Order: sequence, then structure tokens, then C-alpha cells
Amino acid sequence: MPSKIKKSAVQTRLQTQTRPPAQLPKAQSEPLQTPRGMRDILPQEEIFWKIATSRAAELSSAFGYGYIETPILEHKSLFVRGVGDVTDIVQKEMYCFKDQGGDELCLRPEGTAAVARAYINHGMLNLPQPVKLWYLGPFFRRERPQAGRYREFHQWSVEVLGDEHPILDAEVISLAMAFFRDLEIPVTLEMNSIGCLECRAGFKEELAKFYTPKRELLCDSCKVRLGSNRMRLLDCKEPQCEMLREGAPQTTDHLCDKCRDHFIRVLEYLDEVSIPYNLNTQIVRGLDYYNRTVFEIFPKIEKPEAANLPKIPESNETENSLSDSAVSSGEEKASDEKALGQQSALGGGGRYDGLVAQLGGRDTAAVGFSIGLERVVNVLKTLKPASSIAVPRLFVAQLGEAARRKALLLWHTLRKDVPVVAALSKDGLKAQLEIANRLNVRFAIIIGQKEVLDGTAIIRDMEAGIQEVVDYNRLPVEIKKKFAEEKKAIS
Ligand code: AMP
Repeated sequence: MPSKIKKSAVQTRLQTQTRPPAQLPKAQSEPLQTPRGMRDILPQEEIFWKIATSRAAELSSAFGYGYIETPILEHKSLFVRGVGDVTDIVQKEMYCFKDQGGDELCLRPEGTAAVARAYINHGMLNLPQPVKLWYLGPFFRRERPQAGRYREFHQWSVEVLGDEHPILDAEVISLAMAFFRDLEIPVTLEMNSIGCLECRAGFKEELAKFYTPKRELLCDSCKVRLGSNRMRLLDCKEPQCEMLREGAPQTTDHLCDKCRDHFIRVLEYLDEVSIPYNLNTQIVRGLDYYNRTVFEIFPKIEKPEAANLPKIPESNETENSLSDSAVSSGEEKASDEKALGQQSALGGGGRYDGLVAQLGGRDTAAVGFSIGLERVVNVLKTLKPASSIAVPRLFVAQLGEAARRKALLLWHTLRKDVPVVAALSKDGLKAQLEIANRLNVRFAIIIGQKEVLDGTAIIRDMEAGIQEVVDYNRLPVEIKKKFAEEKKAIS
């Protein structure tokens, strides 16, 4: 009998596991787009997202905040009760649906109400107070997409529940400001106090007296707000409403003694840690649950119209995904331009002492903030070119099949010490070194047939163009040494 060719273990396994080919879906003629106002985050943005999210996580932990994650879907009633049924978010902007079981659910438009719910559900009031929490994730609001305003966006937020001391307002503000300082984003902090329910009742009367004679001149939304959500009259961005605001009553003139004292102490604490702020009586925040301290943080970047702010459409936001049948493209463009100046708050927050009780818990004072990560990333992109902040440091190049296999293994060994990239599917060395150059890589390791045979590897200094041969097994040590030398040279 002729001797059979011995099959490799892999070949034998493959033969016994042969499956019929998968049915591929039929190609569609029109490529699909993301839903309007939603976008893909692509690799070229990765470094900026990493910088922002890792700083947020590190700062939260450094200040002793515990991580919390709540579901992306919540009962609609949470937001109706928590955020307020006369707010823009609840009236116009939530994505809600009835599920198969008949529950009315919504994609979360914000995080504070859910955290207050979790505080109640998990009996956190029995923990030492205040409870300090942080989270980071996607939120959804069906707003009109504009520069820096999306229908899916990400926020980093902190919440401090269970203590009304004004030092906590200053603490969370100082945490937010530390974030921007660490990222070297120049910002301004705008502070206001909107008082408690008691002082606001009189203030709302004053607003009605001031605005009712001017009702016909207000924008359509503000006409409605005059009846149901009067505080928002103060931060409407429509030009006619901005003009009418001149001489409008100011919240700070109507604070009760306790609220005034609270606000003054918050400002004194900020002075203590040398955090500059502007008093801005137009900051009222849009949600029902806020009381006393409210604040917003804006990029200190020259307008115009924020020349440095990102242009839209973004790379993966096509004209198509921005256009809306209800809005002409001309209108949209005008509002985009206006938005560059207007929608630029990077973050905001305040006290919400009534929210936990509103959701069925005990009376619980609380304060927090949210920072919009898309806007942070957009500013970072304008301030720091990607090439200046991070590059993969090491490239593994190979020549020949045996070297390719060795390179795959080497990649896994080396990545424990330094970030490594490779282009293992490429055959030619020239093509691989071109990629390494494009990636601004400092060193490349090259393994060819000869190196496989004699157990060596070449380390190429991509800047100096110098190469040296080293023992393959000594590669991790040699590479670590090279990076240590480089670090020393830089410092
Ligand atoms: P808010 O929850 O409305 O107080 O928003 C806090 C921060 O989240 C804002 O200052 C923005 O930076 C960001 N943000 C809010 N809405 C959006 C949106 N639709 N698109 C992008 N960022 C947003």
C-alpha cells in the first residue's frame, strides 16, 4: 500500500468540522447611514476619547467616588417624575417605546434621575453619607443636531447624595475644573443660585410680571414657558428673547437668607482653592430638579464664532444624516453657525435637594455635574494634533512565513511592556516600514528568514536609521532598555 501523506492535526480537525458555506445577505443598493444626529466614533478619534475618559475615571477615583452604572433603558415615569413633565427633555426629546410586555421605556436622556432611583432602590441612605458616585456613558435626546449637539452623546458625571453642606458644591466644581486643568482646556466657570422652592415662588411671580406685557414678542417656546416653565425664559437663546431679557428680575435678588448664605459659602470655598468664576444670573439649567447652586463651564476659546470649534458635518456625518425633512438645509446651516457660539457649554451641574424625595425616597440633599465628552473631544482635537499626543511606540516587521508566525508570538510577548503594532498580512519589508513611518513609530523590530534560523532579531531606530542585531530571547530586555534611555533623553 502506498504510504499516505501524514495530515497535520489542524488539517484533520478542519476536515471533520467542514460546514456548508454561510448564506451572505444580499447587497443593498443604498448604503445605510447612522440615525440622524448619531455618529460612529472612529479610530482617528480614539486617542482623544482615551485621554478624556481615562482622566475622568482617574479623577473620580482619586477623589474617592464609587463607580455606578445604571441601565440605558428606564421607565418613562422616572424621567417624567424626576426631570419634570414641562421640561424640553421630557416633552420633546425622549426616545420612548412600549416593549412587548407593555412597559413604557425610554432611552435615558440624562443620568441623575436614574442615580437617585438607584440610591433609593439600594438603600444607600443607610451608608455613611454623603454617598459619592461617578459614571460615564451614552445618553439620548432627540434634539436638533448642530455643532457639538448630537442625539446620542456621552457624559462623565458625578453625584454626591446625602449632605447639603456647601463645601460639597465647591468639591464637585473643583473636580470638574481639575478635569479641564489636567486636559489643558481653558474654561470659564459661570455660577448662579436659583434658590429653593420657597424663594423661587416669589421670583416666578416677578418673572410673570416682567414678561407678560412682552408676551407677544417672545419666541413660541417662551410663550409656552411663560405659563409652565418660567425659569427657562432666562436662558432662551433666541435673539428676540435675549433682547427682551434686559432688566429682567434676577434669581440672586430673590434668595431667602438660607439660600443666600449657602451660595456665599460656595463662592468663598471656590475662592479658597483659587477657582475663578463669573456670576451669571442667566444660568438656570433646564431641569425641574435643580435648586440653589447651578453652574456651567464654557470653553475659553475665541469666538467667532468659536473659530476653533469643530466644523460639521463630521467625517462620518454626511449631509444626508444631518438633513431633516422638517427643516430646510439653509435654516439648518444658519442654526449650526449660531450653535457654534451657543451650544458650547462643556458641562454643567448643580444642587438637586428635592429629587430623591420626588422619586419616593427620603428627603436627601444632593449635588453633581455632567460633562459632555463629545464637546471635550472636539475641543481637544482643536488644541492638540493627534501626532503630538500619542503614537504606537514599537513596530514588529517580518519577512517570510516562519518569521510571520514568530512575529505574532513576539507581538503578544512585547505588548506587556510597550504598545506594539504590526502589519502581519503584508509580505514586503518596504511596505511594512512605510506603515511604521506613517505611524511615527520610534523603533521597529525586524525578523527575516535568517533571523529565524539564527535566533536573532534586528532592532531598527526609525529616527536615526540605525540597526542592531540582538539575541531574540533578549528582545524584551533590550526594548525596555531602549525606551528607558529614550525617556531619560526626553526628560
Ligand atoms: P445637561 O445634562 O443638559 O446638563 O448637559 C451637560 C453637558 O452634556 C452639556 O454641557 C454638554 O456638554 C453635554 N450635552 C448635553 N446635551 C448634549 C447633546 N445633545 N449633544 C452633545 N453634548 C450634549
